[in-house]
Order: sequence, then structure tokens, then C-alpha cells
Amino acid sequence: MADLIKKAAEDLAAAKMVIALTGAGASVESEIPPFRGKGGLWEKFDPMEVAHIDSFLRDPAKVWNLLIKDMKDLLDRAQPNDCHKGLAKLEELGKMQTVITQNIDGLHQLAGNTDVIEFHGTFAWQRCMDCNTHIETRRVDMIEIPPRCHCGGILRPNAVFFGEMIPQQALWRSRQAAIDCDLMLVIGTSAVVQPAALMPVVAKESGSKIIEINPESTPLTGNISDYLIKGPAGATMNAIVAQLEKMI
Ligand code: NAD
Ligand code: ZN
Repeated sequence: MADLIKKAAEDLAAAKMVIALTGAGASVESEIPPFRGKGGLWEKFDPMEVAHIDSFLRDPAKVWNLLIKDMKDLLDRAQPNDCHKGLAKLEELGKMQTVITQNIDGLHQLAGNTDVIEFHGTFAWQRCMDCNTHIETRRVDMIEIPPRCHCGGILRPNAVFFGEMIPQQALWRSRQAAIDCDLMLVIGTSAVVQPAALMPVVAKESGSKIIEINPESTPLTGNISDYLIKGPAGATMNAIVAQLEKMI
């Protein structure tokens, strides 16, 4: 473990363009449960079903009650953890260019990263399904479920449900960053949700080194990633940044 931390710091020091791909695991230490893995929402219900656009269109009130309301409470309180802070520190040190995140919680921006691609959109805003008005989530009145726009249309998160397209700009920019980088940190993602999980493959094919940080192995481990640092994101990032600061 200590060897791999040192190796990661050396790889970061040597790299010219570093990017990160983060998943729900990066926000676990901010008390936002992931979908899969221990303590994941998966244990309560099947997120692929509840968070699918067809479920939302069929019964928006049910999806608001089962998923979105809880998400709002969790995200209202969530603060960046040491993983978010570590990635922001890497940017401050001139060692992190872009964070591609599958998360919709806005915590990378709150920690201080300035170029964050929100691959699955954001929960900070809701949008009207009829007139496309955008309303900040914290201003949404939750007395009536599903909440509605002033025009009467149903509000939905400005995020991507399973079964929906990735915002064109986010997909295009992510692919380009994956092609251009020479080191990608893949943190807290089970790497099974597509097309996000393809980004490390694109990076690898373009000659980049891939370092995974995750307490569990993933389909990338041992084939796409060069090595896995097996551990929680916060403590691992702290150790890597401390080591890197000694080197540069
Ligand atoms: P996932 O839920 O499929 O997998 C979570 C991964 O995080 C697992 O591999 C698990 O081993 C790992 N993990 C658990 N604790 C960790 C820790 N302390 N440090 C590092 N890793 C840890 O997550 P995913 O791959 O991002 O895919 C799920 C989808 O759900 C994403 O598309 C995302 O949009 C959405 N989601 C977002 C949030 C959020 O915004 N915070 C939360 C839940 C789900
Ligand atoms: Zn409207």
C-alpha cells in the first residue's frame, strides 16, 4: 500500500496532463450513499429501475418519494470530503486539469476544482418538463409531490436518468480530455455505468496511465488500470498529496 502511494505520487509528479474520473464512491465519505457496494442504495431497491427515465415518466411521484426527496436532503447537508479536497489541492499544485464526475452533487466545485465536467448533469437545478424553466433545487417547494413549475408542469432533476442520453457537450469534452491526458485517476466508480466507464478505456488506448482508487476491484482492475490502490478515497488522496508535496 505505502509502495503504491509513493508510486502514484511519482506518476503524478512525472505526468503532464492529469485528469480524474470520479463516481459515487468519491462522495461516500460525505455521507452520500453509492448505488452499488456496501451500504449502497442497491440494498434497498434497484436503482437501475427507480432511477430509470421510464419509471419517472410512468410515476413521477413515486420516484420523487423514493429517490429524489432523500437525495435533496442528503445533498443539502453534504460537504466536500478529503477526496474532493485532495483533487482541489492537486489543481492548486498545477497537477490536475479536469475532473470528469458521474456525481450530481456539486462537491468537486465546492472543494475548489474549476474545470468539472458533470457527465450525468447536476442535482443543483430542477427543470420543468413542459416549459424547460430551470429552478434551483433549494428553492423548490416540496409541499406537493411531484413539485411543479408555475406553468403546472412537473419538475425533474437536471440530471441524467438511466436510459437517457449523456449531454452532448459533456460527452465530447470528456472524450477529448481522456484522449489528451497522460494520467487518469479513477476514483470510487464501479465502472459499470456506460458510457462513463468507457472513458478510462479511451484514455488507456491513447497511451495514458490509469490509477484506480477504490476499496474494491472493478472490471477495469488488472486490465485497463495500471494499478489499484485499495482503500477509501479520502485517506488515499491525503496520503498521495502529502507524498507529492514532499517531491515537488
Ligand atoms: P456505484 O454506486 O456504481 O459504485 C460505487 C463505487 O464506489 C464502488 O465501486 C465502491 O466500491 C466504491 N466506494 C465505496 N466507498 C468508497 C470510498 N470510501 N472511497 C472510494 N470508493 C468507494 O457508483 P458509480 O460508478 O458512480 O455509478 C453510479 C451512478 O449513480 C453514477 O452514474 C452517479 O451519477 C449516480 N450516483 C451519484 C451520487 C452522487 O452524486 N454522489 C450518488 C449515488 C449515485
Ligand atoms: Zn413550466
